[in-house]
Amino acid sequence: MLKKLFQSFRLPLRRIPHSRRTPEILSSRQHSLHRSEISRHAVSVVERLQQAGYEAYVVGGCVRDLLLELNPKDYDVATSATPEQVRAEFRNARVIGRRFKLVHVHFGREIIEVATFRANHPEEDDDASHLASRNESGRILRDNIYGTLDDDAQRRDFTINALYYDPTSERILDHTHGVHDIRNRLIRLIGDPEQRYQEDPVRMLRAVRFAAKLDFEIERHSAEPIAELADLLDGIPSARLFDETLKLFLGGKAERTFELLLEYDLFAPLFPASAAALERNPEYAGTLIRNALANTDLRIEQGKPVTPAFLFAALLWPALPARVLELQDRGMPPIPAMQEAAHDIIWEQCQRTAIPKRFTIPMREIWDMQERLPRRQGRRADQLLENPRFRAGYDFLLLRESAGELTNGLGDWWTDYQEASDSERRNMIRRLASKDEASGAPRKRRRGGRRRGPGDSAPKAD
Ligand code: ATP
Ligand code: MG
Repeated sequence: MLKKLFQSFRLPLRRIPHSRRTPEILSSRQHSLHRSEISRHAVSVVERLQQAGYEAYVVGGCVRDLLLELNPKDYDVATSATPEQVRAEFRNARVIGRRFKLVHVHFGREIIEVATFRANHPEEDDDASHLASRNESGRILRDNIYGTLDDDAQRRDFTINALYYDPTSERILDHTHGVHDIRNRLIRLIGDPEQRYQEDPVRMLRAVRFAAKLDFEIERHSAEPIAELADLLDGIPSARLFDETLKLFLGGKAERTFELLLEYDLFAPLFPASAAALERNPEYAGTLIRNALANTDLRIEQGKPVTPAFLFAALLWPALPARVLELQDRGMPPIPAMQEAAHDIIWEQCQRTAIPKRFTIPMREIWDMQERLPRRQGRRADQLLENPRFRAGYDFLLLRESAGELTNGLGDWWTDYQEASDSERRNMIRRLASKDEASGAPRKRRRGGRRRGPGDSAPKAD
């Protein structure tokens, strides 16, 4: 045990000199968090590590959420034990890590994430350069430098995310005035905001995400540099931005998040084509995106499933018309123009937010369905109804109509058709045919005639 105590972590050879700060300590009477509210698995991980002679705390989002009487998504533990030392304490533990080495302790379906105290990055430190590195703009590429509890608090993003709770003593350790900021509902970066955003530009997205989720303000100094630094997101790997985008839009506060992303100029670096469409046609694109996000929030609130495919299909749809027209102007027939525009827009978006194939394929199907929903003659309507993507395609049609696209009552028609009996359905199809004849509409589409791309009736692209 004693040996372990001394081994608990080795400090890097040369550490950033900074004065040792003592945390504010809140006893159980000074805060509202109760030990019984914490996942018992998280408590048992902390206790086990403490018994083995290490420091260990519950930390981060879960402490913040419990103080705000919200349900934590998951539990994180911070400890002085190295990942290998943590693994040695638990049978059900696995060391994982891309950017950081972490330990996952598994309890059935619950995973407690255990991270070793880490330090901020020494700006110039050759000895540590194999552990941590930055690129030219100051972005952190790797960081596995272990440190003390105080180091660990200082390297976290926001003060409200740097609170440590010890379930044994029931005290909260507050190194950054996080409790004050929770009380005042403020998102405040720890340290110099500009530098912290440069180290990791994703913190700008996180600021907006927490502001929306918690209904907090971004503190003035933390808010100020964002718009100017927004383009730094261009340098973030697209897979990480995809993960972050899902957190932004599938956290139940997508509509508010979208407004904040616009306010801080963070939407354009994530969705360049959609941002351009918003500029060309703010009324239509803005309504369509906002309605899609409001629907997503509502579904989450009702416990219904949401798919990233529908979300991305909606976010990018307003970018299609301009692209289709461009291709048609270069002489491409309408159907191939639509296909190519869809392909190009998704491909370009993947350069920013690597959307996995399992979502891009259904996105295309939802879009393709928009071309097929108006064609209902003969057996087509019934065939469409049987298509596994019908429901998403139909919901998408209603979304387009809600944004003002004129579809000649197509949404209502499909709503009725789904509810109709077999004989009523046959009548509906027959009436369609006679309407076409009465209006002299051609049975077959003319070849090569100029059409207006997706959302034929969408307000003109520019
Ligand atoms: P939630 O899980 O509810 O989205 P969270 O605060 O738990 O919120 P995570 O992404 O799970 O967020 O991260 C856990 C903790 O790790 C955070 O509370 C914060 O202290 C720290 N952290 C996460 N990302 C960063 C970052 N980019 N820079 C600095 N610290 C970070
Ligand atoms: Mg978390």
